[in-house]
Order: sequence, then C-alpha cells, then structure tokens
Amino acid sequence: MAEDTAKNNEGRKPLIEVRHVRKVYRMGSERIVALNDVSLEIYKGEIACFLGTSGSGKSTFLNMVAGLEKPTRGEIIIGGVPLHKLDEAGVTLFRQKNIGFIFQAYNLMPMLTALENVSLPLLFRNVEKRKRDQIARQAIELVGLKGYEKRRPTQMSGGQQQRVGIARALAGRPKIIFADEPTGNLDTNTTKEVMNIIVNMVRENVQTLILVTHDRSIAEYADKIVTVRDGNIVDVIVKRGDVPPSGEAQPGGEAQTH
Ligand code: ADP
Ligand code: MG
Repeated sequence: MAEDTAKNNEGRKPLIEVRHVRKVYRMGSERIVALNDVSLEIYKGEIACFLGTSGSGKSTFLNMVAGLEKPTRGEIIIGGVPLHKLDEAGVTLFRQKNIGFIFQAYNLMPMLTALENVSLPLLFRNVEKRKRDQIARQAIELVGLKGYEKRRPTQMSGGQQQRVGIARALAGRPKIIFADEPTGNLDTNTTKEVMNIIVNMVRENVQTLILVTHDRSIAEYADKIVTVRDGNIVDVIVKRGDVPPSGEAQPGGEAQTH
C-alpha cells in the first residue's frame, strides 16, 4: 500500500516537510529529549494520526509543526515556507492564515457565547463583523449546534463544547488543522460523533488534518498512522493511497481516478 501512495504522490510536493527535527527541553540542569530526530512528509488532503503513549513526544511534535514552539534543530517547511526560520510575528501571521486548532480541553473562552467563540479567529484575521457572523453561524450549523449560538461553554455538554471547538477551528477554512487528543475528554459514542464531524468536514474541504492521540481506535480515521515512541517515529503505515491531488478539490479531477 505504501508503494501505491508513493506512486500516487509521485511528482507531488508534500504540503508539510519535517526534516531531522529535534527538541530538547532544559529544566535546571536536566535535559529532556522530547523528540530525537524526526523526519516526515504529509501531503495535502491527508489525515495523519500520531499514536503513542503519554510522554512519547506527540504534543511536542504537533506544537512545533504548528509553529507554537521552535525546534532545537531541524527544518519544518509548510507549503514551501520554512517555519523554523520565521520570527514570532511571522509565525503568528502564518498560523492565523493557515492553521486551525482543536484541543483536548476545548479551550473555549468561558465568557463568550458559542457564536462569539467561533468568530474569534476570524476577528484576528480581520474579517468584518457581518461576514464573521455569517461564517460562524454556518460553521455552528454544520457541527449540528443550530440553536446553541448564544450558549456559553458552561451551558453545554463536553461533546457540544468540542463541537464548538471544531466549528472554531474549521470556520476560517484553514489549510491545516491540528488536533491534540481531541476526544480525550469524551465517552466512546461522543468520540465517534466528534471524529465523524471532523473527518467529514476535513474531507469535504480537502484540508489536511494532523491529530495526535493515545487512543488506537482514532487511528481508524487516518490515511497515515505514525507511531511515536520515546521521541522517535518508529512506524509509518499508509492506509489510503488515493490522497486528493494538490490544488483545489476538483470533482471528476483526473487524479481521483486510477
Ligand atoms: P505526549 O504528548 O506524547 O504525551 P509530550 O510531547 O507532551 O508527550 O512530552 C514529551 C516529553 O517532553 C515528556 O517527557 C515531557 O515531560 C517533556 N516535555 C514536554 N513539554 C515540556 C516542557 N515545556 N518542559 C520540559 N519538558 C517538557
Ligand atoms: Mg500530549
């Protein structure tokens, strides 16, 4: 199967290139090697799942590729942009334009309504108010929460809060969505619901999803399963070779067929 993918991706440039990335944290005199030497390519439209036990380096990897942390060594190139070389302002701008986040703890603003929470990243991107409202309402409807626009996080269940989190991450149609243990606080049924919403929306918009989890059942949703152990990638399984072509989604586009 990996060969099929290699063939299908022939001549295509990866959207995300991670080259020999290392991350060492210092705590007093102690050095913690969170990532040892990690290299990986992710293509547009792929759903990549990072599996590993707690402390294996999954969040560190995700935070670095999302530009939240700088690698100690190595390169991270996204859509041709060397993220590791940008200054803080450059990375912030890059994130606002290209990246959406879904967190384990939802990270909604408690004082804001669902609608306001979903609108917030659009505000940072200088989308005008009417347009913000329109996009946010649409996103809330898409995650099945029509009628909940005025609710605050404390007035919603965990699954509903996470759906607001998904709407917020996806509303601005970012190219890449990062999800760190997005179902970590949810029961089995809600996990399935939430994963289906994320995956359907990502597929429909031909977005790229990187999710990290310790839950093996989540890996079923992925095209690429990357196993991380003690700061190293120890296994990469490619399940789906027919990753959509780069460029926009083209119904009936030639690369969809084989
Ligand atoms: P995972 O997400 O797989 O549970 P992490 O990436 O959070 O793992 O952590 C990998 C290792 O790096 C762990 O040993 C963790 O304790 C350490 N670590 C993570 N963040 C920091 C930090 N800010 N300072 C020091 N050590 C850290
Ligand atoms: Mg983690």
